[in-house]
Amino acid sequence: MTNEKPRFETLVVHSGVQPENWFGSTLPPIFQTASHRAATAEQLSDLFAGKEKGFIYQRLRNPTNEALENRIAQLEGGLGAIVTSSGMAAIHNSLTAIAQSGDEVISGNSLFMSTYLLLANVFKRFGIKVNFVESTAIDEFENSVTSRTKAIFVESVGNPKMDVPDIEKLAVIAHGSDIPLIVDNTMPTPYLLNPFNLGADIVVHSTTKYLSGHGDALGGAIVDSGSFTWPNEKYPDFEMFKERAGKKAYLDKAWREIHINVGATQSPFHSYLTMIGIDTLAVRMQRHIENTKKIVEFMANHKKVKWVNHPSLESSPSYETAKKQFPRGCCALFTFGLANQKECFDFIRNLKLAYHLANLGDCKTLVIHPYSSQYVSFDPATRAKLSITPDMVRVSVGIEAAEDIIADFDQALDQV
Ligand SMILES: *Cc1c(COP(=O)(O)O)cnc(C)c1O
Repeated sequence: MTNEKPRFETLVVHSGVQPENWFGSTLPPIFQTASHRAATAEQLSDLFAGKEKGFIYQRLRNPTNEALENRIAQLEGGLGAIVTSSGMAAIHNSLTAIAQSGDEVISGNSLFMSTYLLLANVFKRFGIKVNFVESTAIDEFENSVTSRTKAIFVESVGNPKMDVPDIEKLAVIAHGSDIPLIVDNTMPTPYLLNPFNLGADIVVHSTTKYLSGHGDALGGAIVDSGSFTWPNEKYPDFEMFKERAGKKAYLDKAWREIHINVGATQSPFHSYLTMIGIDTLAVRMQRHIENTKKIVEFMANHKKVKWVNHPSLESSPSYETAKKQFPRGCCALFTFGLANQKECFDFIRNLKLAYHLANLGDCKTLVIHPYSSQYVSFDPATRAKLSITPDMVRVSVGIEAAEDIIADFDQALDQV
């Protein structure tokens, strides 16, 4: 290797790999063990006391998980990462490491369904108040900051509203009030966006989606930029962690106070699958984006399609922000409208190639009718607020030949 910093396409293949520690294997061995033997009682004591770095018990740390943590941290340009058993666990742990009973969090309202329910209902039970504001309305974030606000949370592309908050501007608002900005970067992945470059402080992922890429392994990650300083007046409970871990204070706190005790531990097998998945992230994302461009264009010109929502379209309210924030393209998810729910059901029934299921970020093209599925038990007012309408189909564009996906959509639309 030269001294030049490897490019992203190289990092996805080589980062986190330690053949020298893995008997020459270039794939991470699956350390399928609940615990690790210590040589002596003295050593185990040192391991527990943190005087020696090593492995004790899977819920604490695991070598396969660590390979994935190193890889994801490098791809995001962060200081380090913690992998979790799911994206939801990552979001839960990322915020509960900062906010406690009596504290407040400001969140964009355009969120993945379970994230919305976690923040709206579960956090309420623990006395953490979440103020939901319009994800793209920067002034609403600014106006909602109180002395109790401990974090701002947004998705870099709202799912399924397909809106794009201006992360650079949000970071300025957050830092002006000494608050960290947390970004769920699942949808663009670090191939399309590194939120740290725009001022975000913490990034979370559902690795279940594009990072693993094959619809095979549930998982999540928390990544820390290390740049937020956690001022003592606002975050007195960080003081001890700053002394212990310096720039890694947040990761140390999230790990020590939350992660190892909550126990939403990643399975080493899932970390292994996700490592292999990430090897092809750059080429997959490139194809996902190329296909999305072609399919969105086809759908936008189809006479039975009433509307198409993707930030690359000039009709999208997020067009300008997306163009600035995502030079390589925004994401491979879009929504479109037919005349009514019945037409959406007809379309889905007639598909031959695309799969109808609740996931996204798979190699295969996936469709779903969110109104009648994930959001079926939401009250009408909340569905309206989240832009979940009965006429809407959501598409996660796969990496098949675009022509074949278009042909499938075309014949399904014909029968509507
Ligand atoms: C899927 C998803 C999550 C939740 O992740 P899981 O791995 O399913 O727990 C969170 N945020 C976004 C944007 C997602 O798409």
